[in-house]
Amino acid sequence: MSKKILILPGDGIGQEIMAEAVKVLNCLQHDHGLVVELNEALVGGTAYDETGSPLPEATLDLAREADAVLLGAVGGVKWESLDYSVRPERGLLGLRKELGLFANLRPAILYPQLADASTLKPEVVSGLDIMIVRELTGGIYFGQPRGVKELESGEKEGFNTLVYRESEVDRIVRVAMDIAMKRNKSVCSVDKANVLEVTELWRDVAIKVGGDYPDVELSHMYVDNAAMQLVKWPKQFDVMVTTNMFGDILSDCAAMLTGSIGMLPSASLDENGKGMYEPIHGSAPDIAGKGVANPLATILSIAMMLRYSLDEPAMAERIERAVDKVLDDGLRTQDIMSDGCKEVGTVEMGDAVVAAL
Ligand code: NAD
Repeated sequence: MSKKILILPGDGIGQEIMAEAVKVLNCLQHDHGLVVELNEALVGGTAYDETGSPLPEATLDLAREADAVLLGAVGGVKWESLDYSVRPERGLLGLRKELGLFANLRPAILYPQLADASTLKPEVVSGLDIMIVRELTGGIYFGQPRGVKELESGEKEGFNTLVYRESEVDRIVRVAMDIAMKRNKSVCSVDKANVLEVTELWRDVAIKVGGDYPDVELSHMYVDNAAMQLVKWPKQFDVMVTTNMFGDILSDCAAMLTGSIGMLPSASLDENGKGMYEPIHGSAPDIAGKGVANPLATILSIAMMLRYSLDEPAMAERIERAVDKVLDDGLRTQDIMSDGCKEVGTVEMGDAVVAAL
């Protein structure tokens, strides 16, 4: 039976980059024997405009039925004044929560062809290959109670709750350990155990899980130091595992070490390997509709999807080699443009990857 992929272009450049990703999927279907069924649905601001919800029931049903979801990006200025409960980002958070996508895998890889794109010295970043594993369905982004209340004095007070159960920490640390076993067998668990009791528990559980993986070297680092070390000497890290909020911040920092946010894919997995795949960037309202967005992060997200949810590692490699080839050929979208290269738009870049495939 063919596997089902749900395509969710979303908002802003999401529409443009997804069109290129679909071309790549079509090419894999027609020329390379990939057997999949593609469905498309609404999410984010465009879904809100049409249905009044950033995550319509119909989209959620299709997402539940799918073996993998490919998402562009959500959000935009147009929806910023909406109530939090119907903002485009709630669509994304809702999908993660409803599908139980607790493990967010965010690689930060520096392509040798793009060493100039980083703001850091080439010797600090060349050959960089880090995998950040971020817990995605717990922690302060979901903890209760949350809100803003008025005190007796009339002053307002805002509050959120950072909460983790042992089982939540156990399963995310295991994901990091399993990935490390296929890489350089080193995991750094990031916490703030000197200040936050909840991350003291995180550390205790990480140590316990580490006992089941004697071949993996497990270290611990406070999040403030981790931020500093990522910029100082990022190559010391192989796999990093951390909480939802710390991972949100550290993975953006790691992404920027590589120079372009337009190059990096991500995967969010459930306990059975079903996943949602998306570029790490947002809907980029500043360049939306101009045809200049880099589609490679979305195309590389397909490679992650083939590897983690569709069990097609050879096809994943084929995509990665095709991206390598277009970079070798000197093609660059404006975000990764450098001297001596040829600047191309979103569509040309997508066509080049298909040609390389
Ligand atoms: P952003 O990632 O959209 O853009 C940051 C900068 O990177 C911009 O200058 C943009 O032009 C550039 N950029 C991003 N993707 C690019 C690409 N593929 N090619 C070339 N340049 C690219 O982040 P932001 O500006 O902070 O947020 C814009 C909107 O996106 C907001 O509404 C935000 O909430 C939303 N957002 C969504 C997601 C998501 O859907 N997963 C993630 C982050 C932000």
